[in-house]
Amino acid sequence: MTDQYAVIGNPIAHSKSPLIHEAFARQTGQDISYERILAPLDGFDETVRELIKQGYKGVNVTVPFKFEAFQLANQYSSSALGAGAANTLSFKNQTIAADNTDGAGLVRDIEQNLNVQIAGKRVLLIGAGGAAEGVLQPMFKSKPKSITVVNRTLDKAIGMIKKVEAQSQFGNTILSACTFEELQGQAFDIVINATSAGLNDTALPILNTIFAKDCLAYDMMYGRETPFMKLAKDNGAQVADGLGMLVEQAAEAFYIWRGVRPETHSVMQQIRNLSQL
Ligand code: NDP
Repeated sequence: MTDQYAVIGNPIAHSKSPLIHEAFARQTGQDISYERILAPLDGFDETVRELIKQGYKGVNVTVPFKFEAFQLANQYSSSALGAGAANTLSFKNQTIAADNTDGAGLVRDIEQNLNVQIAGKRVLLIGAGGAAEGVLQPMFKSKPKSITVVNRTLDKAIGMIKKVEAQSQFGNTILSACTFEELQGQAFDIVINATSAGLNDTALPILNTIFAKDCLAYDMMYGRETPFMKLAKDNGAQVADGLGMLVEQAAEAFYIWRGVRPETHSVMQQIRNLSQL
């Protein structure tokens, strides 16, 4: 019998997750179906409970429901606990198990696909929303020299750091939060844009001096060049978009559900070609 999975969000029509999971399933010979489900903004729990009733095995969760997914679960992986948010739920008997694969996806894309080691590097994480929160702890586990979180609303960056500090052992990594103004005079080896500013082509208030020599500038957005990517490219940084992270976080979810790790490079290429990215 075909095992059913889905991605739940609002909006959801743009989601590439069905294409990715269908490609993984073909490649690994897994008998699954995977669809997009639009949940009403006030109806996430109800939607999930209905899917469980229908025998679905799990769901991916996207904006704006990752925090609600965490609340709904009754079992948590350390990555879900670290983020306080879930992008992957698995249903078995009476259990709703929460995972957060965004961070693992980002780290894997940076280290395996882009071949940039995080250990010993000065990392700048721009943004303190759900995406930034999901990747902070996994980035730490890769032992960078420092992670600076900068956010327009400073309190959110400070809160995010405090939460993760309370849950993790960081070794020698220096962790700090600051305003955009306080970045003046600083340079970083890895700069990650985890803001949604690129969605409406807004430029971030950053100087071109933040990109150190051989810097990797990573934008979690994909589909077009953002002002952040352009600034980084014009200043000699290696630039990557978030498509690799998207495919890698999906591969982690697929592994959690099916116990099989799909090959990701060909799928990334497929999605890029389909989207003409
Ligand atoms: P949230 O809405 O939770 O957070 C948005 C963040 O962007 C906040 O830190 C916000 O700052 C900041 N921000 C928004 N506009 C501006 C601006 N004009 N100037 C400076 N900062 C700004 O969104 P998410 O964290 O869920 O998503 C962020 C991005 O990451 C999106 O583009 C999303 O598509 C992408 N993403 C990609 C994934 C992938 O697999 N590639 C996975 C998950 C997300 P403030 O707190 O001050 O409001």
